[in-house]
Amino acid sequence: MTAEARTPTATPRSPAARELGMKATLLFPDREIVQRYYVPLVYTACRTCYSELEPDEIFRRATSGQVAAEKQQELIKKVIESGHGSTIEHIVFTFGISGVTRTLSHQLVRHRAGVAFDQQSQRYVNYKRPSYMVPGSIADAEPGLRDAFVAEMDESLELYGRLLGAGIPGEDARFVMPNATRTNLVMTTNLRALIHMSGLRLCTMAQWEIRRLFQLIRHEIFAVSPFLGSFLAPKCVPLGYCDEDRNRDGHCPIRPHKDEVLAAWAEKRAAARAVGRELPTV
Ligand SMILES: Cc1cc2nc3c(=O)[nH]c(=O)nc-3n(C[C@H](O)[C@H](O)[C@H](O)COP(=O)(O)OP(=O)(O)OC[C@H]3O[C@@H](n4cnc5c(N)ncnc54)[C@H](O)[C@@H]3O)c2cc1C
Repeated sequence: MTAEARTPTATPRSPAARELGMKATLLFPDREIVQRYYVPLVYTACRTCYSELEPDEIFRRATSGQVAAEKQQELIKKVIESGHGSTIEHIVFTFGISGVTRTLSHQLVRHRAGVAFDQQSQRYVNYKRPSYMVPGSIADAEPGLRDAFVAEMDESLELYGRLLGAGIPGEDARFVMPNATRTNLVMTTNLRALIHMSGLRLCTMAQWEIRRLFQLIRHEIFAVSPFLGSFLAPKCVPLGYCDEDRNRDGHCPIRPHKDEVLAAWAEKRAAARAVGRELPTV
């Protein structure tokens, strides 16, 4: 048994260290479009709310450099931090995602708002040889266990081939495919949804494979815009505290658990009351 398996409450190690054979590639837009238009577009959406100017004039000023990039970013940052999310629904990113498992894709497609998916079909693709992923914990397990896992996968996928060969339709043969089977998707998401999904999936409580995917996605956004990439973070970062029940023991140190924050508040209030003062609350 590995040290990680013995201590289930330890901070889950970043899955980034392991090569999982998966990819996330930003297909659109490229760096030039993001730099030239994306920040001005969001700025225009934000500024329109507070300006007598028409949106096309605000956009012209922003794209021509008449409004400094820093000024645009400052306004956008304030608006995002205030939770005015519609302003960042105007820009979208399309990713090619490949080599992830059906375990991951089942979680990913649960996101509904502001995101679109297309996924490789197990009905229409007759795989010559479906490939699968071996989770790190199994790859590192004692050889007998690891070999049994690999044999089981190989046997299922070999049976898949035999079923197809016997004329069974792909849509039925796929019933033997394990959760570990790899798949490919295209995902388009607006920035608001991407920030929301990253908040949940970069959290150390998220399952390791989907967490790794969002690390790759964040890397792609950083490559085209460090400013926009800076908003992709575990949800506790903008919140200022952790709200995950499974972190009540505080093993993940990124932010204090809300229990700790409330306890600190209660302590402060008690100290104030002891000297006859009431702390203002609403
Ligand atoms: C760590 C973790 C563990 C999980 N475990 C499980 C599990 O055990 N079982 C399980 O079934 N799922 C599980 N999930 C999936 C989870 O319950 C959500 O379905 C998934 O994360 C999608 O997120 P979302 O609901 O925020 O949807 P999104 O589509 O990403 O929606 C974004 C936001 O839009 C709003 N919204 C979207 N749709 C509606 C609507 N119809 N009505 C009102 N508001 C809406 C909500 O504010 C929502 O947060 C888990 C997720 C995580 C991150």
